[in-house]
Amino acid sequence: MSENPPQLRPDIAPAIRLPEDRRPGQPMVGMVSLGCPKALVDSERILTRLRAEGYGVSPDYAGADAVIVNTCGFLDSAKAESLDAIGEALKENARVIVTGCLGAEPEYITGVHPKVLAVTGPHQYQQVLDAVHHAVPPAPDPFVDLVPASGVHLTPRHYSYLKISEGCNHKCKFCIIPDMRGRLVSRPAGSVLREAERLVEAGVKELLVISQDTSAYGLDRKHAMSKWKDGEVRDHILDLSRELGRLGAWVRLHYVYPYPFVRDLIPLMADPENGLLPYLDIPFQHAHPDTLKRMARPAAAARTLDEIAAWRATCPDLTLRSTFIVGYPGETEAEFQTLLDWLDEAQLDRVGCFKYENVEGARANDLADHVAEEVKQDRWNRFMEKAQAISEAKLEARVGQRLQVIVDEVDEDAATCRTMGDAPEIDGHLYIDEAFETLAPGDILTVEVDEAGEYDLWGRRV
Ligand code: SF4
Repeated sequence: MSENPPQLRPDIAPAIRLPEDRRPGQPMVGMVSLGCPKALVDSERILTRLRAEGYGVSPDYAGADAVIVNTCGFLDSAKAESLDAIGEALKENARVIVTGCLGAEPEYITGVHPKVLAVTGPHQYQQVLDAVHHAVPPAPDPFVDLVPASGVHLTPRHYSYLKISEGCNHKCKFCIIPDMRGRLVSRPAGSVLREAERLVEAGVKELLVISQDTSAYGLDRKHAMSKWKDGEVRDHILDLSRELGRLGAWVRLHYVYPYPFVRDLIPLMADPENGLLPYLDIPFQHAHPDTLKRMARPAAAARTLDEIAAWRATCPDLTLRSTFIVGYPGETEAEFQTLLDWLDEAQLDRVGCFKYENVEGARANDLADHVAEEVKQDRWNRFMEKAQAISEAKLEARVGQRLQVIVDEVDEDAATCRTMGDAPEIDGHLYIDEAFETLAPGDILTVEVDEAGEYDLWGRRV
C-alpha cells in the first residue's frame, strides 16, 4: 500500500493529459490536472465546455496554444507541486492559465509566477473559459465540434466520477477546504440523475459518487424535491442512492460520514438487485474521542464500532474503506493505542494513513504539543503493519469465493479487474491471467478467487 493514497494526497496524483488529433485551424488547449478526483471532475467539465466551443485538447505543451493548470492547495507539499507544475508549463508553453484550489490565493501564485495569464479559483468555470477565450479565441465549427453525449472524461470510459455537491459546512481543524471551497452547495437530485443517466447511456458501467461530505448531501436545499422523469425525487443521499442504483450501473459512495441515517443505506447495499455497491468510504481519521474532539470532526461522538457492527449484521459483504491521521497535535501514546485497538476491532477492509502535516491557514497548526517526526513515523509504521495484516487476512478469506468483477484493463499478460470492494485508483485489483483475451474494459463477470496477496487477488473465470 502506498504511503498516501492519491485521492487524499492530491500532490502525488498524476497529471493527466488527453490525446487528440488536431484539425486545421483548430485552437488547442492543454490541461494539466493535479489533485483529487474532485479536481479531476472540474477538469473534465472545463474540457467538455471547451470541446463544445470547438477547442481541441493537446496531449503535449508543444501542440497547445494555451495550457490550463488545475492546481491543488490541500497540503503545503501540494502547493509546492502546483507551483512547480505552473513553472514547467510556463517554461514549455508561456501561455498559462491557472485554476483550482490554489487559485483561491492568486497573489501566492503571481508572486512566484508573475507571467501567468490569469488565475481563477475552484469551480470558476466561466472565468476559466473567459481566460481561454481571451488567450486563444475560439474558432467554432458546428459540423465537427460535437461533444460526445457523456462529455469529455479523463477517466476510462467505463467508470466516471459523479460530483453531487461542493463545499463543506464542517470546520475540521486540519482542513482548509471549507475556506477554499465555501459552504455546502448541493446539486438538485434530478440534475445529478440526468447526468448519471447520460453517462450510463454512453457506456459508463460504474459511477463514483463524490463530494466533500456525501452524507450531508441536500442539507443546504433543505432536502427539497426536484423533478426526475415523471415524478419527483428528494435531495437526500438515501433517495439519490436508491435512484442511482436503478440506472443499471455499479454505484459507489465515497466520503460518507457515519451519521445515524447511514444505517438506512445499508439495506439498499445488501440487495444484490440494486446497483448500490456494498462499499462505504468513510474518513474516520481517528478513533480516540479526545483526538477527534481536537480535530473538531463531524460525528466525533458517534459510537462507530457499534455502527459498524450493525451495518455488517445487515450486509455481511460490506467493504469498509477509511483514512486516518497519525501524529495529530497532542496525540498521546495512549490515544494512538486506542486507535490501534479500535482498528483491531473494526477490521476495516481498506485503510489509508497520513502522518499529520501542517497546512498553511489550518487551525490545527496552532494546537499545542505537535508530535515529533520520528514518533509520527513510528506510529505510521505500527498502524500500517496492523492494517496490512487485517487486509491480508480478509483477502485470504476470499479464496474459493465467487465474486463479480469489473474489467479495467487488458494487456498481453492479464486482465486487471476490480471486485465490488475495490474502488479505482485507491484500492486493490483482481487479476485474471488465464482465458482473459476476449475480455474488454467495462465487462462485468464472475470469477472464482484462487489466490490472495497483501492487497490484490487472482482468480479465474467461471
Ligand atoms: S468534513 Fe472536515 S475534512 Fe472533510 S472537507 Fe469538511 S472540514 Fe474538511
